[in-house]
Amino acid sequence: MKPLVPKPGILEIKPYVSGESRIQGIEHVIKLSSNESALGASAEAVSAYNAVKNGLHLYPDGNAVELREAIGVQHGLDPSRIICGAGSDELFYNLARAYASVGDEIIYSKHGFNIYPIVARTVGATPVVAPETSLTFNVDAVLSKVTSNTKIVFIANPNNPTGSYISENELYRLRKDLPEDILFVVDGAYAEYVTQDDYSDGISLVDASENTVMTRTFSKIYGLAALRIGWGYCPPSIADVLNRLRAPFNLTVAAQHAGVAALNDTAHISASRCHNAVWLPWLSNRLKELGLTVHPSVANFILVQFSELKGKQSSDAYNFLAQHGILTRKTTGYGLPDCLRITIGREDEVKAVATMLSEFVSR
Ligand SMILES: *Cc1c(COP(=O)(O)O)cnc(C)c1O
Repeated sequence: MKPLVPKPGILEIKPYVSGESRIQGIEHVIKLSSNESALGASAEAVSAYNAVKNGLHLYPDGNAVELREAIGVQHGLDPSRIICGAGSDELFYNLARAYASVGDEIIYSKHGFNIYPIVARTVGATPVVAPETSLTFNVDAVLSKVTSNTKIVFIANPNNPTGSYISENELYRLRKDLPEDILFVVDGAYAEYVTQDDYSDGISLVDASENTVMTRTFSKIYGLAALRIGWGYCPPSIADVLNRLRAPFNLTVAAQHAGVAALNDTAHISASRCHNAVWLPWLSNRLKELGLTVHPSVANFILVQFSELKGKQSSDAYNFLAQHGILTRKTTGYGLPDCLRITIGREDEVKAVATMLSEFVSR
């Protein structure tokens, strides 16, 4: 029998490769490979999660009302324009399903988040890559890629894996010069970590323009990656479309309850933000002192380039760190073969990776 042929695009998907989480023979791994929260989940979120176990026979609230209201209160937004997803990934897939199909084009930037081209292929659309400048999203390059087939532009701001961002002015300029009927998705997965004054998470742009969606996640600063919670802030018409497309019970009870508790524990969020504001520059400076190139980052990870080191490669560094129980993220799949991405972990973890890279460099 011949295997069934799936819809156009699907066999062109290169499956997403996530950060590694295991090293054979090592029990206690320092996992700096997936940009998870250094401080973990809020204790409040953990107790909300624990409390769920007596009601496992009950369906979740299909509209995630409490969670959307809590997000609305926290960010000053109308909950009817907030859509929750099983991770922000689910929102990207549904936006593509809604607004792009075979022959359409979806633009993202050269070292942009790897999910965007996958999302494009799932609906048979063509992912179109715009070049970057100094590993940073380039508004003019994206505008020059726009054709009559363009349906969606994705930006991660700040971007993973580069850690770079574009200013509020640039974000607004892109929207202004993009045709109105192109959907602009601003992925703010790391927005909470950014301390720069010229940064915007995109909420105001959703209000100030047509056809712009901002997405956020509980997987990073909220420390709830295991529960898969994302949300988007949308124009009413797009919220309506996403509500038709999403699975009716796309967020589990645990996700909804822990999400509300995590949102309300603002002290924990501040602690996570402060932790990052200390250890991001600390690790960046230590590694620069070792002669490594550290690309400027405003998120909770750094992109480290090894090409200045004679005779030593990023793959050697990856293996050396792994032998010592430290997992980092290879970025070859992002077209950055001479780099590794390293998450800002706890103090002891950050110090351990600095020590081990110092050993690596001096070997
Ligand atoms: C981690 C990350 C996300 C979050 O994805 P979830 O599905 O919400 O876990 C989204 N965008 C970028 C750029 C990320 O790095």
